[in-house]
Amino acid sequence: MIIFVMGVSASGKTTVGKLLASELNVPFFDADDFHPEVNLKKMASGKALNDEDRKGWLITLNALAKKEAKAIITCSALKESYRNILKEDLDKAVHFVYLKGSYELIYDRMIEREGHMMPVSLLQSQFDALEEPSTAITVSIELSPQEITEKIMKELSPKSDFGLIGLGVMGKSLCRNLINNNVELAMYNRHIDGVEERVAANFKEEYALDSAAAFDDLRQFVQALNTPRKIMLMVSAGPAIDHIVQDLIPLLDAGDIIIDGGNSHYSDTKRRIDSLAEHNLHFIGTGVSGGEEGALKGPSIMPGGHPDAYEQVKPFLERIAAKDKDGLPCCTYIGPAGSGHFVKMVHNGIEYAEMQLLAEIYQLCRFGKGMSPEQIADVLDSWKADGLDSFLLEITANILRKKEDDAYLIDLILDKAGNKGTGNWTTVAASQLGYPATMITAALYARYVSSYKSSREEASSVFGFENSAVQALSTDAIKEAYRLARIINHHQGFELIRTASDTFEWSLDLSAIARIWTNGCIIRSELMEQLIPSMNAHAAILHQNKQVKTVQDAREHLIALNIASLSAGFSMPCFTAALNFLHGYTESRGSANIIQAQRDYFGAHRYERVDDSSGKTYHTNWI
Ligand code: NDP
Repeated sequence: MIIFVMGVSASGKTTVGKLLASELNVPFFDADDFHPEVNLKKMASGKALNDEDRKGWLITLNALAKKEAKAIITCSALKESYRNILKEDLDKAVHFVYLKGSYELIYDRMIEREGHMMPVSLLQSQFDALEEPSTAITVSIELSPQEITEKIMKELSPKSDFGLIGLGVMGKSLCRNLINNNVELAMYNRHIDGVEERVAANFKEEYALDSAAAFDDLRQFVQALNTPRKIMLMVSAGPAIDHIVQDLIPLLDAGDIIIDGGNSHYSDTKRRIDSLAEHNLHFIGTGVSGGEEGALKGPSIMPGGHPDAYEQVKPFLERIAAKDKDGLPCCTYIGPAGSGHFVKMVHNGIEYAEMQLLAEIYQLCRFGKGMSPEQIADVLDSWKADGLDSFLLEITANILRKKEDDAYLIDLILDKAGNKGTGNWTTVAASQLGYPATMITAALYARYVSSYKSSREEASSVFGFENSAVQALSTDAIKEAYRLARIINHHQGFELIRTASDTFEWSLDLSAIARIWTNGCIIRSELMEQLIPSMNAHAAILHQNKQVKTVQDAREHLIALNIASLSAGFSMPCFTAALNFLHGYTESRGSANIIQAQRDYFGAHRYERVDDSSGKTYHTNWI
């Protein structure tokens, strides 16, 4: 490594250069010692050197830099053309350190300095010639030589290409994934006295992550990153993101990129993109799905924001993402603004309904058909070979087989579902956009109903409703009903995304979204694989030829399941929502004419008529 310490005369090059050489234990050379006699005489006579005078001297210094393996060379190197000669054809790392100071400060220092070959009268010519470097390590000479040296040492220390903030469940797994994929990583977790101490350092030690740098000082963490910096946040969504962003802003440089990988609300992401743009900083909101294991082995990644910013983080995100069956990364640029987080939110919404359908099947089989958890697991496993394979089906079968001593663990788990809000957000967003995502809503509300455990127990004892058997319903019928309900769930989820894309003008590619959901994420499934080619046709899932046949074949089973389970006293919120949607969506003449008439009756809201297709609206005086 060759370091040229540059700046005008009396900026402190020799002092700092020597300190640096001693710190790094490398030879020190002062370029002034390499001037030919003729240059020294010219300067001593008060005449400034011209480019021609300097050329041979710079070539000599370049030869010196080529000869030495490591060296600190002080040289004014005022012009870009001089610096180009100095570094020409060097086959080692070259750094320029620019000691920057004002004319007044340097003039005062020159006055105090005795016996230097450069007369004070030539200082102005040096400033006239100076072309400040854009890529050098620039340090103010107002600092002490020791402080300047420390700063340079810090800048010279090896930098990381990617930074990650927040070493919780997801952050730790993503860090290990990045390191496993040879990313030079800097990791940071906040420090709270007595509560959160040495989190990053301890994590690094625990997993022997030798190549990674660990910090609990945000400034040092930021300084340890190459620019433009790429900093991923894996922290709790909400105000924590805003706090960290505010702390980061003064430490960052124009063009740096913050990536929020948590489950932030898409409208917050849009707000953050806009506000950071005012600081010339980029913000990417990205969904990351796959849980702890996915984050470690390869998640599905859904980034949204400015496409130019995405291009810079793409190599990192694509490297750690899961791979689809063709080996392509399950990560693609989703679209502008908060679209990445919107798509992740809907992913979670679809996940809610997929989970609820399996919960309803479990309830029906266990208590309506009297099957053991193991028997239900066998049935679910057998469905995998019949086009119904999915991550959630697989883990549900595994869950049902799990025993603790002689008991099935599932029997020991309280039937009270938690949630972290994304199902709620999807339901609210669907409602705001006017899209009927009825299965996601039903799944969310089923969780809410479950959470009233003590009220449910009380109501159960008051009413004493009994469940009756549903033996007549075969597991094959349940399978077909499940197949159809899943198609409807995916139809609703993708149509919600399409509606948002049209409303917000995001131009989202639904086929690409289906593709990155085929591996790494929680809703990966065989159905998702099948959807990739057909999503290109801009046809909603229920209108796609392949699905029309399935709907026609499976509808009778969905009806049978609903009739049998409801009349046996079971609650089937997602299966009933699926059937209700299917019937409502496929009837060409429904009952909304009554609603329109009622609205016009009490509120003069007007209605359109079936015998007038012009769009004209009518009002009737009903009384
Ligand atoms: P954890 O609770 O395990 O970790 C949260 C992290 O955020 C911790 O490192 C915590 O630091 C940090 N943090 C919280 N508040 C602050 C704050 N005010 N300032 C600085 N740091 C803060 O969460 P997860 O890793 O599970 O989740 C992280 C994000 O990823 C969330 O948005 C979550 O919704 C999302 N996500 C989670 C998935 C999962 O399966 N867990 C899946 C997909 C997305 P400290 O330890 O110091 O408190």
